[in-house]
Amino acid sequence: MEKIDGRKIAEEIPIIKDIQVEKEVVWVNPDKKAFVKSAKDSELAMADVEDAELRLKRFAPFIMRCFPETRDRGGIIESVLTPIPNMQGHINEKYGSELEGRLLLKQDSHLAIAGSVKARGGIYEVLKHTEDLALEHGLLSEGDSYEKLADEECRKFFQDYTVQVGSTGNLGMSIGIMSAAVGYKAIVHMSADAKQWKKDLLRSHGVTVMEYESDYSEAVKHGRELSDQNPKSYFVDDENSRNLFLGYAVAAKRLVSQLKERNVAVDAEHPMFVYIPCGVGGAPGGVTFGLKQVFQDAVHCFFVEPTQAPCMLVGMATGLNSRISVQDIGLTGLTHADGLAVGRPSGFVGGVMKTMLSGELTIQDGKLYDYMRDLLETEDIFLEPSACAAFQGPVKLNKSEELKRYVKENGLSDKMDQASHIVWATGGSLVPEKIREEYKNTYLV
Ligand SMILES: *Cc1c(COP(=O)(O)O)cnc(C)c1O
Repeated sequence: MEKIDGRKIAEEIPIIKDIQVEKEVVWVNPDKKAFVKSAKDSELAMADVEDAELRLKRFAPFIMRCFPETRDRGGIIESVLTPIPNMQGHINEKYGSELEGRLLLKQDSHLAIAGSVKARGGIYEVLKHTEDLALEHGLLSEGDSYEKLADEECRKFFQDYTVQVGSTGNLGMSIGIMSAAVGYKAIVHMSADAKQWKKDLLRSHGVTVMEYESDYSEAVKHGRELSDQNPKSYFVDDENSRNLFLGYAVAAKRLVSQLKERNVAVDAEHPMFVYIPCGVGGAPGGVTFGLKQVFQDAVHCFFVEPTQAPCMLVGMATGLNSRISVQDIGLTGLTHADGLAVGRPSGFVGGVMKTMLSGELTIQDGKLYDYMRDLLETEDIFLEPSACAAFQGPVKLNKSEELKRYVKENGLSDKMDQASHIVWATGGSLVPEKIREEYKNTYLV
């Protein structure tokens, strides 16, 4: 790998100087293009998202059988879209945000099985691998219901196979729980940031948890090496997986009817702003990719990262993508936002986002807990701190010079009273009560 000179890069790219000293920054993507142009450059397309959506439909009877809690949605794992007007009033009052239009919360925090956005990509990837194996080995024939895959003889077959993944926590939970449900041996390689309760929960599902004292990248590296030694082991590659990415992207297709139900129009006159917390990039990248396919130029997507671990921002702003890490410019990568504690971004996602993403914001750790308490007090909804990063978007939109310019240059100034703002709540419902209490009482300076 090439040697990165952090000092030289900071001189060439001014925003890196602010990032280096842990300032909260706003970055507007200078390479964003009109959707029709960016779609042409992309290796993936709407057809791939539709293919993923159909696969999840085929698996719905299987999911319903393994996870009875998904029965009311017919085995489709989906979250609700909730208007949060009290929170909107509160941020306008407390932070002077002057946010017009409607603020809504996409509650992936409450997705079945994994309690985070990872229930989309992680579960999809395990199912895709399961379908591949089942077809290859003749477990499924034309017209079979996939429910059959939960039969004892199929489970016995899958017990010969292993699924492994490296994770800061939530991806491991989604892959681990789903893999164990299919029957696989599951091994999750957890980085130092991963919370104890997540390891305990996984072990209670029969998943093997291997712990590392190092960061996420090292956990991934060791996991991959171990998996490569076993021909019957499949490694879920969070940094490069097209399957994970497409699993996340399906969210956009499902959002269409939810917006209709809430009478939220999304078109040239009614812009939609979406704010998503970002770690390695797969989840926010996949969701954004799907949203752009569906809503095209009417949707404006922003990622939010911790000031100590803004890996996607550093990768995109320098154009170096996965060739640069936050450590290269002198940051630690350590953050209270365990789901976002990633030092090096996905190069694949950075490439796809280059012409689609509107921009990025960063947030100091202390504010994660403030926004968490704000939401709990005004709407009685609990999110984990990582997920609360997304609120930095609506709080800052009308206060940042960069974002004010973005609104103006995109011809949106007279449309903001008809805009919708979606905060993508990426996790939280599985956090144990005791840990919630700790979070509620955490104040950082
Ligand atoms: C994983 C995660 C994210 C970000 O997803 P990446 O694919 O790592 O970018 C955001 N929030 C929560 C709660 C997560 O667990």
